Amino acid sequence: MSLLEAYKEVVPPGTVEFLILLAEKVQGKRILEINSTRVGGGVAEILRSLVPLFQEIGLDCRWEVITGTEEFFNVTKAFHNALQGWEQNISPQMLQSYREINRENAARLSCDADYVVIHDPQPAALIDSRPPGGKWIWRCHIDISRPQMKVWNFLRQFVVKYDSAIFSLPGFARKLPIPQFLIYPSIDPLSDKNRELSTEEQGRILEKLNIPLDKPILLQVSRFDRFKDPLGVIQAYQLVKKHHDVRLILAGGTATDDPEGEVVLSEVREAAFNDPDILILLLPPDAHLEINALQRAATIVLQKSLREGFGLTVAEAMWKGKPVIGGFAGGITVQLVYGITGFTVHSVEGAALRIHSLLDNPELSIEVGREAREYVRQNFLITRNLGDYLALMNYLG
Ligand code: UDP
Repeated sequence: MSLLEAYKEVVPPGTVEFLILLAEKVQGKRILEINSTRVGGGVAEILRSLVPLFQEIGLDCRWEVITGTEEFFNVTKAFHNALQGWEQNISPQMLQSYREINRENAARLSCDADYVVIHDPQPAALIDSRPPGGKWIWRCHIDISRPQMKVWNFLRQFVVKYDSAIFSLPGFARKLPIPQFLIYPSIDPLSDKNRELSTEEQGRILEKLNIPLDKPILLQVSRFDRFKDPLGVIQAYQLVKKHHDVRLILAGGTATDDPEGEVVLSEVREAAFNDPDILILLLPPDAHLEINALQRAATIVLQKSLREGFGLTVAEAMWKGKPVIGGFAGGITVQLVYGITGFTVHSVEGAALRIHSLLDNPELSIEVGREAREYVRQNFLITRNLGDYLALMNYLG
């Protein structure tokens, strides 16, 4: 069965036929996707599925990754934090290093294509070395609605040189002289992260991870990043634990473009110290089946982010029919329709209260999980994302 045929089994009826029509006018066009890591984090997760789909539907799609020094990734992480509203000290030397590494990458990569899609701030300055021809699109995955202005103004000088920009939420759009588009991110229902697992397969994976199944499981899957609020998750668990005997699993890894992970991980370990019912799992970047099995084993999935671009982990858990409690942040708010497809919360106490009520009401969990899966099917699958890109390419010509 071809890849597209396989999607017909899970996506809304008519979707694949519509994609084939949308792809007609852009057959054979060259697309180049550039981001800053091949593993870890949501962007890599999407590109891993999107690139083969573009190829399957008749486009010539390449995926390149910029390389950089440790200093460069410290700088871009500081940018990331500052753009999401967390004040950072940015020195002129840091800006210099950002430009230099981008120049080096521009010299190394061949950026000749009909459509060049640059993901996030890390490679944004590649636009300065743009070859003639081709449309350049800046695809921003983070929440830049309340940025540290100094950093945004620096980045903006590159962004305005693009032909268009894509954001994940209407509220993330900025005042820009270029057209801006809204495209929600997506998950791949056929990937190892999300495909169905047999009970035996799931059991084997959980056994290998040493996950006891004797208590309800609260789970958060995410990079060890302050915006994901792992310490808040531990506090919520501790409040719940006074009344319910549950287990908390914090599963995460580090991304090659995220140098802060180690520090946050050690803070999490310290907060979890001495509690045998908190399991901290440090997973390798290719632990897709493991995350799939953990999400399926969870009683309740948490994503208590304080800031979030979109939060693919939310859609992943919803697709598995799980009740999800998420921080009221960024794209989590469009996935979790309160009380229908999940619950958003504003505090540790709010999260704990919601966990309590779901544990006390398993019927509600089942109902919310069912709605959640259908909501993802209609809105957040990779085929919808592919369709949005094809429509944009048709528009840009
Ligand atoms: N992820 C993973 N391993 C980890 C932590 C996260 O594979 O240890 C995956 C997770 O399943 C999701 C993506 O990385 O697919 C994270 O995307 P999200 O949008 O939730 O957050 P980001 O890391 O991009 O901020």
